[in-house]
Amino acid sequence: MTARIIDGKLIAAELRARVAEEVARLQCENGLTPGLAVVLVGSDPASQVYVRNKHKQTQAAGMASFEHVLPAYVAQAEVLALIEKLNRDASVHGILVQLPLPKTLHTETVISAIDPAKDVDGLHPNNAGRLAGGLAALSPCTPLGCIILSKRVHASLEGMNAIVIGRSNLVGRPLVQLLLNENATVTSAHSRSRDLGELCARADLVYAAVGKPEMVRGDWIKPGATVIDVGITRLTGPDGKTRLVGDVAFAEAVDVAGAITPVPGGVGQMTVACLLVNTLRAACAIHGLPKPAV
Ligand code: NAP
Repeated sequence: MTARIIDGKLIAAELRARVAEEVARLQCENGLTPGLAVVLVGSDPASQVYVRNKHKQTQAAGMASFEHVLPAYVAQAEVLALIEKLNRDASVHGILVQLPLPKTLHTETVISAIDPAKDVDGLHPNNAGRLAGGLAALSPCTPLGCIILSKRVHASLEGMNAIVIGRSNLVGRPLVQLLLNENATVTSAHSRSRDLGELCARADLVYAAVGKPEMVRGDWIKPGATVIDVGITRLTGPDGKTRLVGDVAFAEAVDVAGAITPVPGGVGQMTVACLLVNTLRAACAIHGLPKPAV
């Protein structure tokens, strides 16, 4: 059996198109243009690529995009002052601080300064707490993308056995909460988990968010399971060429799984699309409008 390949690129493009339709409707009916502000501190090349991509896709969806680039040596007070200004700016509905921040800045303090209503990365403790409490919240984009991809395979995740490998605040933990909200039965695995292969083999849904290339082997996968690979590692081959590799040994898993995301072209594409969804939702909520149909 060869698994169905879950086409994240296509699904993300469809999602962006639906966001663009909703943005056009909001502009027409309410005179409202959702706006996303991205704050980049320093000149990390990977972060620059992500920010450029977010800027392009935000504009393509018809939203306003504001980019704020600060030097790596900026004082924390200056970053907090910028966030305060963005919190008060009525044309900004979403604020994203590109991570990682330089070590001189305290990430938790910076994230906590964002108005929770504009926290489109879903990392503010208020949103994390609300999500954990099963309340409406802005949720982190990558886990949201994972849920959307899973629901393209299974209309309902209710009662399914899921394993989430990795428990970061950015991916693993919020993904566990979102899966609980979907009524899945969830195992949260991490670096101290024992017998990971055996835990995995019981799961109908496998989410790998570790950052260790090809750690999840084909014989860990239950036949027919759905495998969502969040991991992205750039490896350089003996020929000097680089390639992106996921946390799942794709060539092995594809023969066992029922459905699987590729790397690249899987989860990665969904993250920015979900950022646009969150910005749209935040704009509607801030203006007291109904939740958009996306
Ligand atoms: P992270 O903060 O480094 O967290 C990694 C998690 O993996 C930790 O919870 C850690 O456990 C766990 N872990 C480490 N070694 C393990 C092992 N041997 N067995 C089981 N669990 C283990 O990473 P992250 O930010 O969540 O990102 C994870 C991966 O996803 C990375 O490759 C990253 O590039 C990728 N990513 C992709 C997207 C996207 O858009 N596609 C977005 C975000 C991240 P402990 O908690 O015990 O240390």
